[in-house]
Formats: sequence, structure tokens, C-alpha cells
Amino acid sequence: MEILRQAILEKGRVLPGNVLKVGAFLNNQLDVKLLSSMADEIYNHFNNKGITKILTVEASGIALAVLVAERFGVNAVFAKKSKTANVDGELLTAECYSYTHKVMNNLILGKEFLLPGENVLVVDDFLANGQAVYALKTLVEKAGANFSGVAIAIEKGFQGAGDKIRGEGIDLYSLAIIDSMSDSQIVFR
Ligand code: 5GP
Repeated sequence: MEILRQAILEKGRVLPGNVLKVGAFLNNQLDVKLLSSMADEIYNHFNNKGITKILTVEASGIALAVLVAERFGVNAVFAKKSKTANVDGELLTAECYSYTHKVMNNLILGKEFLLPGENVLVVDDFLANGQAVYALKTLVEKAGANFSGVAIAIEKGFQGAGDKIRGEGIDLYSLAIIDSMSDSQIVFR
């Protein structure tokens, strides 16, 4: 998606450890106009799949997930990274190693928010090693729902998870795929 690629080139910054900082439009400040266009693009790709729920993980996937859910006319749900006082009832859980925080999280979602037979689209901001996507897939499977696809804002293609996921026949749609990045250059697929 050209306007996303432009935003990455103009406002993104490559940090050590293969981390792309995009706080200017996606991870801290939210460029609502850009995010809205991204949500439209995702809707156009998945609109024939009978999506009934959008699933993401807190915190940085939520903004895009909400806009995507609005396009589909369905609710968005997000997995929490820790059990807080306001979480109760039957829970779905899945282990997930956090790429940016470098800790193992137990993703948690109230069972009542993901029902058997639902068609679930997973949305997230980044795809790196695929831990988040596979953990969310586990939640969908534990719920007895259908894993209908994955929409990602920025896939770091050089980390390989995207190709693996596509190879498994999963409908993975990434709005920008980075093939390589360094301090001085970002190359898109
Ligand atoms: P994965 O689970 O695919 O290894 O990593 C994806 C998750 O880690 C995303 O939910 C995202 O929050 C975070 N992440 C991974 N790589 C980056 C990156 O380069 N920049 C930012 N801002 N977040 C990242």
C-alpha cells in the first residue's frame, strides 16, 4: 500500500535489534486518516469471507482492529497480556513470546467473546517471527471458531514468518512488506 510505504520511509526509524519505530503514525501517535485507509484496504481483501469478529492483541493492534471492525460492522476483541482484576469467568489462553518486550506472555481472552463457529480475522500492527499470530490462532482454535485470515500493517518479510504462514495456506494480507532494513535504507518487497 503506497501511502503506508511512504509513511514508513518518511517517519519510520530503524532501531537496533531489527525493530522499526513507527510511533509517529501507528504505535504512539495514531494517524487516523492513514489508519482508516488501511482499514478500507483490509476490508476490501477479506469482505467476502463472512467475518464475524476481529481479534488482536493489546496494545498496539487495537487501533487498527477497531477501524477494521467498523468496516465489517462487527465487534473487535483483544487478548490481554496479563490477567487483571477485571478479567473473570472462563478464559482462553495461549503462550506468546513478545518480540519487543522480550518476555513470555500468557495471552488471555474471555471465552464468552469468541464463540464456536465465528469467522475470525486476526489483525496486528507488525509481523516479525509470527509468535503473536500463532498465539492468536491458538485462541481461535481453542474457542472452536474459524481462523479466517490475518491482516498485518507491516510485515518484516526478512524474518520469514510471513512466508511460513502463507505456505500453510493461511490467507495472510500485509499492507507493506519490508524485505530488508538498515539505518540508511528500507527496501520493500
Ligand atoms: P512476532 O510475534 O511476529 O514476532 O512480533 C509481532 C509483535 O511484536 C507485534 O504485535 C508488534 O507489537 C511487535 N513488533 C515486532 N516487530 C516490531 C517492530 O519492528 N516494530 C514495532 N514497533 N513492533 C514490533
